[in-house]
Amino acid sequence: MTDIGNKSLKYQAGIGPKRAELLANDMDMHVVDDMLQFYPYKYVDRSHIYKISELRADMPYVQICGRFISRQMVSGGRMPHLTATFSDGTGTIEIVWFKGLNYVTEQINPNELFLLFGKPSIFNHKLNMTHPEMEKADSAHVDAGTLQPFYNTTERMKKSGFNSKAIHKIIRGIFVDAGDDGIMETLPQSILTKCNLMPRGKALQQIHFPTNAQTLEIARYRMKFEELFYIHLSLLRNKTINRSHQQGVVFAKAGALLNDFYKNHIPFEPTNAQKKVVREMSVDMASGRQMNRLLQGDVGSGKTLVALMVMLIAAGNGYQACIMAPTEILATQHYENLSKMLSGMSSVSVALLTGSTKKKDRTKILSALADGSLNFIVGTHALIEDTVVFNKLGLAIVDEQHRFGVAQRARLWAKATIPPHILVMTATPIPRTLAMTVYGDLDVSVIDELPPGRKPVMTEHYFHNSRNSLNKFIRDQLQQGRQCYVVYPLIDESEKMDFKNLTEGFEYMKEAFPEYKVCMVHGKLSAEEKDEAMHSFASGESQIMVATTVIEVGVNVPNASIMVIESAERFGLSQLHQLRGRVGRGADQSYCVLMTSYKLSDDTRRRMEVMVGTTDGFEIAEADMRLRGPGDISGTQQSGLPFSLRIADLAKDSQLVQYTREKAQELLAADPSLESADNVVAVERLRALAKQQINWSEIS
Ligand code: ADP
Ligand code: MG
Repeated sequence: MTDIGNKSLKYQAGIGPKRAELLANDMDMHVVDDMLQFYPYKYVDRSHIYKISELRADMPYVQICGRFISRQMVSGGRMPHLTATFSDGTGTIEIVWFKGLNYVTEQINPNELFLLFGKPSIFNHKLNMTHPEMEKADSAHVDAGTLQPFYNTTERMKKSGFNSKAIHKIIRGIFVDAGDDGIMETLPQSILTKCNLMPRGKALQQIHFPTNAQTLEIARYRMKFEELFYIHLSLLRNKTINRSHQQGVVFAKAGALLNDFYKNHIPFEPTNAQKKVVREMSVDMASGRQMNRLLQGDVGSGKTLVALMVMLIAAGNGYQACIMAPTEILATQHYENLSKMLSGMSSVSVALLTGSTKKKDRTKILSALADGSLNFIVGTHALIEDTVVFNKLGLAIVDEQHRFGVAQRARLWAKATIPPHILVMTATPIPRTLAMTVYGDLDVSVIDELPPGRKPVMTEHYFHNSRNSLNKFIRDQLQQGRQCYVVYPLIDESEKMDFKNLTEGFEYMKEAFPEYKVCMVHGKLSAEEKDEAMHSFASGESQIMVATTVIEVGVNVPNASIMVIESAERFGLSQLHQLRGRVGRGADQSYCVLMTSYKLSDDTRRRMEVMVGTTDGFEIAEADMRLRGPGDISGTQQSGLPFSLRIADLAKDSQLVQYTREKAQELLAADPSLESADNVVAVERLRALAKQQINWSEIS
């Protein structure tokens, strides 16, 4: 038995060196196995023939059968082309060609019956189809139930005639070469049997040449299984390896500092959920192994207090701790919160280090860090610079993780002889199945309870022309002493139109509310200007803040009770949820108003409905994943995975994600180092997949 999977594509019939280079450059395909795992992005049922009278422009590729009743060469205008009228007795459709005009003219004999296959669209109010696939109907062998696969190709490939059809043909050749047993099995036999999976060779064949829809589904299931199974196996294995080898600093006791804080300085009784996660972490940090933990807690669930408590454990055990935040605003806010909570504890010191820290202060801070006299430091990316040297770093906390890559996490490790414990905090709730894979190398703690007395934010969806009633509502809240945010989308801080909307919105609010003070914050302001505006809002000096999404994460002004989100249709669900989380932080009833135009796509309408319907971050995350697919959730789906996914989908296949994890766990439980003969194949597969591993340093 020979495995043809490793054969270079250069040597495959129909490819050759030139095309092989295209495949390598454009599609990252090198060997036969890459091609076999180049899955069709869709299938089209060629068994069904549509009537022309049934066609609509929003249909996908369809097949029609009829005759050309007239044709016309159009040589004027920008581009000479050929049009022909095609009829099947139920109606007519215009067929258009821009290329190969002579050849086509010869082909379309009016007496002959043709099968056309293409995408209907509307041009000049008339139904048309450009460059359909064309076959004479009598020679066409249309098997009942034939599903024709379609493959993505790049423009460059198409230009050299390397289209979906050509790829299909090459794959056909691969199967001919492979014979019955040329495609190696990649799953252990025990798994195949236990889970009743189709053998690999057959599954791949069905995927490229499906017999029918049912068998195709079974085949796809098998390949999805394999993909997810190996992701779990790899993550779980690394985890056990890291567990047993990665030595960690031992924080043997909760320590006097935490006790003092808890007894004398804590501003409020922690929720049970806060206590629970602190306990989980203290166990980790006492274990002698490095902690690698993800803390998930919805906006407002009180992650800051938790962070401070574990930092105090570090300090109580004689170690330093740091918090790294993605923006200066957030870092500053953390610093202020910590300073406030620690104000009664003179033995604990905390400093802030960002890009705009003055040189003189920086020097002082860095030397205090190096000599160990500084306990805690809060900062931005500035913290991972090489000039930042700790005396004894024991704990590194990363807030809003999705903006930090794995590589950056790794740089924090390097700052101590024994790697510090790592706590990653995120307010973006991640559906369980996603957390399992994207953060598979982390343990997960969840704060599943909000501090008492919170009232869920009431959310309403308004259309742009209801300004007057909105303003009345805002004024009513302001008169009760509350404050209001108005947020504009400004995706890229250089977008001119967006910027104009923002500043116009600012002017509008000043005019509409002359008796109140309005401030504005956006990314183009200098750090001081930003600070000034934030302070004027936080202190209550101004009552309305017009801002961009710079306030998306972390900003905490409990007196603010209204969040108006302008052009809400332009935000994703998780972003809307983050923004809404800026209000509802005090005991008062808070409100979120989603402003959109009248014309909304179905997707947008659903997003608004989800926001109005629930304030539960996990529910929103699930909905988000269903609506958008997991890839967009945090932009890190692929970057958190050991290998990229080609066929499985973390959102759509969430049950299989769970199931394959269990199977991988069972396999490792029975054979932790994968030594049995049956598991050799798994070890080999892991090794092969690891070779294709994503290069972290490039993507982070
Ligand atoms: P997160 O960072 O998780 O979004 P924060 O740590 O900013 O949330 O906390 C949100 C608000 O809740 C803050 O005003 C904080 O002071 C308050 N808070 C946190 N924990 C508690 C608690 N146990 N009881 C009452 N208020 C709390
Ligand atoms: Mg926070």
